[in-house]
Parts: sequence; structure tokens; C-alpha cells
Amino acid sequence: MEREVVDAVIVGAGPAGITAAYTLAKEGKEVVVLERGDFPGSKNMFGGAIYAQPVAEIFPEFWKSAPVERSNIEHKYALLGDNDGTVISYRNGDHAKEAHYNSFTVIRAKWDRWCAEQAEAAGAFIVPETLVESLIIEDGKVVGVKTEQEEFYAKVTIIADGVNSLLAKQAWDYPEIKPDHVALGIKEVIALPKEKIQDRFNVGEDTGVIYTILGGPMQAMVGLGYVYTNLESVVVGLGITLEDLAKSKTKPYELLNKLKKHPVIEPLLEGGELLEYSAHLIPEGGYKAMPALYKDGVMIAGDAAMLVNNVHSEGTNLAMMSGKLAAQTAIQAINKEDYSANMLSLYRKKLEQSFVLQDLKSYQDVIRTIEKNSKAFLGFYPKKINEFMNQFTAVDSVPKKRKYIKFIGDVFKQRSLSLVTDGIKLANLAGGIILK
Ligand SMILES: Cc1cc2nc3c(=O)[nH]c(=O)nc-3n(C[C@H](O)[C@H](O)[C@H](O)COP(=O)(O)OP(=O)(O)OC[C@H]3O[C@@H](n4cnc5c(N)ncnc54)[C@H](O)[C@@H]3O)c2cc1C
Repeated sequence: MEREVVDAVIVGAGPAGITAAYTLAKEGKEVVVLERGDFPGSKNMFGGAIYAQPVAEIFPEFWKSAPVERSNIEHKYALLGDNDGTVISYRNGDHAKEAHYNSFTVIRAKWDRWCAEQAEAAGAFIVPETLVESLIIEDGKVVGVKTEQEEFYAKVTIIADGVNSLLAKQAWDYPEIKPDHVALGIKEVIALPKEKIQDRFNVGEDTGVIYTILGGPMQAMVGLGYVYTNLESVVVGLGITLEDLAKSKTKPYELLNKLKKHPVIEPLLEGGELLEYSAHLIPEGGYKAMPALYKDGVMIAGDAAMLVNNVHSEGTNLAMMSGKLAAQTAIQAINKEDYSANMLSLYRKKLEQSFVLQDLKSYQDVIRTIEKNSKAFLGFYPKKINEFMNQFTAVDSVPKKRKYIKFIGDVFKQRSLSLVTDGIKLANLAGGIILK
């Protein structure tokens, strides 16, 4: 019996897989998406904001019909000390008026489902509750995938099964993910009445605020905390590399509890009721830890390919863009009936021309440099900034000049010559981002 071969089979119905499916289906290609969850989004969690401009390149003006929560009009960066904090805010009046500038908070179970509905409407066939166990490889070429019950053959296979990809390990003989190449993200969703969120965060009915948090209970660990506002709930969470979690011997939920009790964060959550607690891994390896992105018959997109820019909390946009570019490459391959690695190498070229690999390339040394200098960059300096603010805002009978001289003297005493090398490292870091 001749086997059935579809144009494309995609593993995973997250942002990468669904965008790939939507792009292929819109071009009239026969595409099957296999998703292990009960429905797209059922297994997925994130912080979370999706970014309007890149998403609108795929689903124009999506905010008019998609289940978005709040349009984020303000970014707050909180540098926490043990019991104090300095918060820098950026709000732009234009952003409040024009949705495409912003990011939107979304609830993944609803958002991923909506994206999947768009792909289905375009003609994609999504099969939920189906765990892909392995790739089917014939003569060194990937020709499909195998589930417990069935085999699915395809001209092109797109792996979009998320972080710590089982299939990437099979295709590329990929080693186990290293503890410094992955972070553990945990979060709580806390219910709060709509009006309370509006008052507390100084926003309107459908606008919101993002907090990015450094220091505090996370001390000098490599990681960030965050607070996002949904329509009727607030999200609080953090992500720390597995390496630093192991070194610190701290349990992640203990860190989160401390963050929730911090005097800068506690008032934001006060009176709320815990709705949900969840945890997920985040790829941290970046440009240097990416697997090869294609092979004969197969491409890899999104978290499975380590396409995350952690410094900016960007993952869904890189996943969607890589899904789109993998699909566009697959369309060219199908039209030419050429599924060779040489043909699929176009995918990497497209990624290199896009912000995806350009950003990851510029940021390739950022996390490593922060890791090496975390005690200074994430521990010492945030603390010192808060100590300075404490002196600066205190009104007492000590002459200001004496306070400042003492403060500067203490900083020099504690860091001495390292102040200069820290400055050089920071300048190198910034220079690297611009020049790479
Ligand atoms: C705590 C946390 C906070 C984050 N915050 C943000 C944020 O605010 N903004 C942002 O842009 N990004 C954020 N990210 C990153 C973002 O969530 C990811 O980059 C994005 O979800 C990647 O999309 P993806 O499609 O590659 O993978 P995923 O979303 O992980 O989707 C993979 C899909 O594949 C399915 N799957 C896996 N294995 C199999 C298999 N063998 N067979 C069948 N199906 C399978 C899974 O069930 C899942 O549905 C955050 C991540 C975390 C963990």
C-alpha cells in the first residue's frame, strides 16, 4: 500500500508551530500539526506579554478579535535591595492611543487556542492529545514522525516542540541541555478586581503595566522577576538559571514567596487570591548554544532551537517569526520538490536577515558576562543604587556633602579597582551589542 505523504508535519502547537502551520495552510499546503496537550495552549505557560508589531505581521490587527488582556502602556524597572527598591518607569502617551506600539498581556490557554483556530480556518489540520515519540529517518533524511499509534509522513517536518526538545536531541544527537543554558520560570496568577488593578497600577480599563525586577531575594543570581497585569488578575514570577538555583540551594517557590513579601511588590498583590501556580523551563543558551537549524527534510523553530532573548523577555516573537520563516522555506522546497539540507539552508539565511538571529548574535555574550559578574552587576550595584537613593531622599541634620563623600568612599573601599574593570566590562557589553 502506498503511504500517504502530506506537505508538512509540525510537532507542537505553540507559537512557533502554529505560525508555521498558518503560513503553510494559507498557501494551500497540506499541513498536519501534532500537539500532545488536550488543546493548543493547554500545556503552555509564560510571563506574559506578546509583542504587537511582530504578531501583527502574521495576524494583522489581531487585538480587535483575539483574546488579549491589557495593552501595556508602561514599563517599570525595579532594582530591589533587601528591604527597599528604586523603580524607573517609562510611559508614552502615544502608546496608550496606538495598539501596534505595545505589547499585550495574554493568557496562553486562550491565546494559543485562538491562534490555532486561525490556522484551522486557513486549512491546517491540528491533532491534539498526540505525543510524537520520534522522527522517522530514512537514508539519513527525516521523512516524518512517529506517535504511539501512527506514523505521519511528510515532505518537510518542522520541529516546534519547545525547550529541551526531545526530537532535536534525536535529529542532531544533541547532548542534554546544560544547567547554565536553561532557566526555571515559576509564576503565580493572583485574582484582583478590575477596578483595583486600575487604581493600583494607574491604568485604564484595558491598559496595563509590566514590571521587570532585579535583585532583592534573587540577590546576585542570574535571573529576573516580573509582574504583569491581566484584566482581572496580576501575574508575579521569576526565572533563574538552573545552575544558580542549584548553587544557592534555594527552592524556587521560597524565592517567589520572598519576592511577594518585598515592600515594593507586596502592595501590588495585596488582597488578591491565588488562582494558579505554574513552572516551565526557559532556554538561556542563546546564539552560541543553538543546534543546527536544518537537516535533510527537517527544520527546527522556536524554543526547541533556543531562539529566546532573555534580557528582553522575548520568546514568543522569535518563535512566531522562526515558524513563519521555516514555513516560507518549506513552501519554496515543496514548490521545487527539493527537501535537501541545501534547499532548507535558506531557512537559516532568512533568520540571519531578520531580527531573530541579528538580535541573538548581538546578545550572544550578554548572559555569559552577567553570569561571570553576577555578584557585582546583580548584587552589589542594585544594592548601592538603593543605598544612594536612601541617602539622597533622607532629610536629616547631616550635611549633604558629608553624606555623598561617605557614600562614594564606601563604594571605592568595597570595590576599589574593580570599579574601573566593571565600567570597562559594561562598556564592552554595550559595545558588543551594537557592533556584533
Ligand atoms: C516563565 C516564562 C515566562 C516567559 N515570559 C515571556 C514573555 O513575557 N514574553 C515572551 O514573548 N516570551 C516569554 N517566554 C518565552 C515563551 O513562552 C517561549 O519562547 C514560547 O512559548 C516558545 O514558543 P514555542 O512554540 O517554541 O514553544 P512552546 O510554547 O513551548 O510550545 C511547544 C508545544 O509543543 C508541544 N509538544 C512538546 N513536545 C511534544 C511532542 N513530543 N509531541 C507533541 N507535542 C509536543 C507542547 O505541548 C507545546 O504546546 C516565557 C517563558 C517562560 C517559561
